[in-house]
Amino acid sequence: MVLSVSCTSNDSADLVILNGKVLTVDKDNPLAEAVAIKGEEIIAVGSTKKIKAYINGNITKTIDAKGRLVLPGFNDAHVHFRPLDPDYVELRYVNDPGIITQRVKVQVDKSKPGELVKGGHWDHELFSIREWPSKELLDVVSPRNPVILSRVDGHSVLVNSYVLNASGITENTPDPFGGEIQKDPVTKKPTGILKETAMDLIKTGAVETVRTAKEIEEKTWQGYLLALKEARELGVTSVQVPGSADFEMYEKLQNDGLLTCRIDIGKSLTGDTSLLAEYIKLSEKYPRTGNWIRFGYLKSFIDGSMGSGTALMFEPYNDNPESSGLAMMTYEEFENMVVTADKYGLQIGVHAIGDKGNNWTLNAFEKAIELNGRRDSRHRNEHSQTVQQSDFPRFAQLGVIPSMQPTHCISDKNFYEKRVGFERCKGAYAWRSLIDAGSILAFGTDYQVEPLNPMEGLYAAVTRKARGGEEGDGWFPEQKLTMEEAIYFYTVGSAYAQFMDDRKGMIRKGYLADIVIVDKDLLTIPENQIMSTRVDFTIVGGRIVYSSEE
Ligand SMILES: [Zn+2]
Repeated sequence: MVLSVSCTSNDSADLVILNGKVLTVDKDNPLAEAVAIKGEEIIAVGSTKKIKAYINGNITKTIDAKGRLVLPGFNDAHVHFRPLDPDYVELRYVNDPGIITQRVKVQVDKSKPGELVKGGHWDHELFSIREWPSKELLDVVSPRNPVILSRVDGHSVLVNSYVLNASGITENTPDPFGGEIQKDPVTKKPTGILKETAMDLIKTGAVETVRTAKEIEEKTWQGYLLALKEARELGVTSVQVPGSADFEMYEKLQNDGLLTCRIDIGKSLTGDTSLLAEYIKLSEKYPRTGNWIRFGYLKSFIDGSMGSGTALMFEPYNDNPESSGLAMMTYEEFENMVVTADKYGLQIGVHAIGDKGNNWTLNAFEKAIELNGRRDSRHRNEHSQTVQQSDFPRFAQLGVIPSMQPTHCISDKNFYEKRVGFERCKGAYAWRSLIDAGSILAFGTDYQVEPLNPMEGLYAAVTRKARGGEEGDGWFPEQKLTMEEAIYFYTVGSAYAQFMDDRKGMIRKGYLADIVIVDKDLLTIPENQIMSTRVDFTIVGGRIVYSSEE
């Protein structure tokens, strides 16, 4: 009998990462050089020398990190993850306007004459010339199709001459109230940029596309694949969806080996006990003990948004003294739903923006403890956006998780103070106050309200400055985090919020092998390089799902 010399012991790895700067986010072993992975799990973390012992020449794949930063995969705790439109012309992070022309051409070539070409997320502040784009970029490739490309903030669009003509917009069209038809200073002709209410003038003149059920199904499928592709390219290895999504589609993707991101899906909060019983069944089918497709939490809204002045505040708005926002329901109705759902043992997450909305949310969770008893419920306050000082300690006392999105801070800070005044801004996006009061934050993006890219969130958390950079220390700088903290809340914090901190969010023996390698050292680079940091490898459950080198 011949014994095989090839290693068959448990000590051989399927994949090793060597020569890295491994930020494990594990306080027992914060820094390492290398990681060994077998199956879905991490089996060892340590020096390159130590991990080399796990290499079995025949079966072990090796990634040489070449000194790059290795992190746990990003876990987006609040993301409206859904299929993308495969026909949408994606222009985020484009820095050369010529690329707009190229990408529009690709889509026009796929379209029938008269069919609408839609796209957006361009930002002329990122162009090397920093000038507004104009219709000429589009006209050369789209003489027979309407093209509408919205700016990254959604407050203006670029259209081609086809759309201007169909809308009857000429050099003689006056600006509508609250809007602007941008005109060339020399020729006085419309440039193709329409701002704010001027966008309402658009009549596309588009020919409706008729699609068969089969075509729609195929397009939706492609949309799921695109969404997953975006997530893995950005190093997002887990997503938690507020509210519902299609469990069966994700199961189908998983069965086909195409699911490259773990996903928690919830339902809407209700006090209807027959519905709650159905949710219990669903949570048994997609249990918390699972690692891929899981039943998440029940989502509710207590108020609106700060941008539209509908966040529920104790005191009136500074810029609209007639209003202090809107509650989505009476407190009694809300409390009843929370208490009833809590009795079923389900997790609840409430969208709360205003200080009163946050206060009500905490009050209802407190009532649930009072009536149903205390358990490890990990109820969540989604956004926790404006909190009155006396409520900060209540989060930790009640075991309520502040689930927050750092980019909202840098997107909204310009109007926040005008709307609620300096004093109330002290409690806005108040990460440090919440941590000091004992909370573990869960970080996410609220994509597609904000981009999915975790680097934007990390940048926002450590700077509290505009994306393009700005002088000074940032907005209410006492609330800023360190990079290590921001990464912690984006990994361990988010895992905690979904009851997975015992097996996900750290690079640690026995944990799920969800790992990213990035191209810059986030811990040492200047802040103006954080946003341009890119992911080089994404590993989910031990499988390399994305590599920039391929
Ligand atoms: Zn949201």
